[in-house]
Amino acid sequence: MMEYNEKLRHLSDLQIQEVIRKYEDKKYKLADIIEEYSIDVKPKGFYNILPLQVMEEKCEYCSCNLVKKRENRSGYYYKNENIYCENCGHTIISCNWRNEKCYCEGCKEKEISLLNERRALIEEYYGGNSVRFEFDKLPLKYQIALYNAMITNENHNTHVLAAMQKPTIDLIKDYNMMLENNLILVSPESSINAFDEDEFPRKVNISLATFDINVDFTDEIVTALNDKKYFSIPEYRVEEKVDIWRELIYRDVLDKFKTMLEERDLELHISEKADEKFRELLMEVSYTKLITICYRVATKLSDRVITGEMNRRFAVNTAYTNVTSYFRKAEEEGWIINDSKYEYAGEKLKTFIRDVLGKNYSILKEIASADSLNYRDKWEDDDPHIIMKF
Ligand SMILES: [Zn+2]
Ligand SMILES: [Zn+2]
Repeated sequence: MMEYNEKLRHLSDLQIQEVIRKYEDKKYKLADIIEEYSIDVKPKGFYNILPLQVMEEKCEYCSCNLVKKRENRSGYYYKNENIYCENCGHTIISCNWRNEKCYCEGCKEKEISLLNERRALIEEYYGGNSVRFEFDKLPLKYQIALYNAMITNENHNTHVLAAMQKPTIDLIKDYNMMLENNLILVSPESSINAFDEDEFPRKVNISLATFDINVDFTDEIVTALNDKKYFSIPEYRVEEKVDIWRELIYRDVLDKFKTMLEERDLELHISEKADEKFRELLMEVSYTKLITICYRVATKLSDRVITGEMNRRFAVNTAYTNVTSYFRKAEEEGWIINDSKYEYAGEKLKTFIRDVLGKNYSILKEIASADSLNYRDKWEDDDPHIIMKF
């Protein structure tokens, strides 16, 4: 049974019910209620001596009835009072836009046991053993992805990748590729919020999780990687190097071509056929010349659209094919295609050239091929004829 405030104790239960009913009905003046029931309180303090409202709902921890403060008749705004347990303090927060939570003993214990349950599920799902790989047996593209992940990771070791500090699209792609191939494994030690609530624990937020590196490194490999000498040995994985080099050029050029078109209010449409032809072009033309060609094509198309010679849709649809046809035409006509500045190459391409090929960026003036890798320092760092702005 609830204890009433001492200022109400001279009243019977029935009278107290009346007092409450009259308080809630604004047609009764506060001063009149106080006088009628001889309550020794100022109208200002009246609200505070009102008995709490007892709810039907019971506390989930101690089974007492939950209570709630009555609505204040002089409140300027409607305040959604919390429902709580007078015995253990458990509180049901009614209007939780501030994301508050209850810190009663019951809730604290419940949270801990929920966390333990989740940790056990994570351990069960991710704690198993997996066949380990040896670093030097991996394809070059996996080696490079792992190397990039390790050097950009704050852990600086070959065992565990800490949660990403600067997740980039590129890094996330690499992590996904490594995950799919079991080179890295979601660590059961990952922060609990790395696991998706709805698809727990299967779905993981890749930028919040930590990963165990499922690859073994010998001391010699670690030393060579640290000294940036592992990949740059000229004979090392030449064919794979060239493939990755071409792929990086492909992505970099397309990315820049897209920007050039967008700056001219055009777009890049990639059809399968044009893409195939463009990839063939990578075997015949250097990065710096490809950029020049893209620049010419973007400018030419945009000029034609502006002068009304060509409609925009046609320009958009043919832009990509035009890169190849411009080069073929140049070959036929004997046009000279100047080299653009290689300094504008993207970071990923540059890092690859520096750390994996062990070359100067000026190698971008060469066609990506095994032959080009054998030339040494024949490129002069002269000023290019065309200065590009992105
Ligand atoms: Zn309780
Ligand atoms: Zn609680």
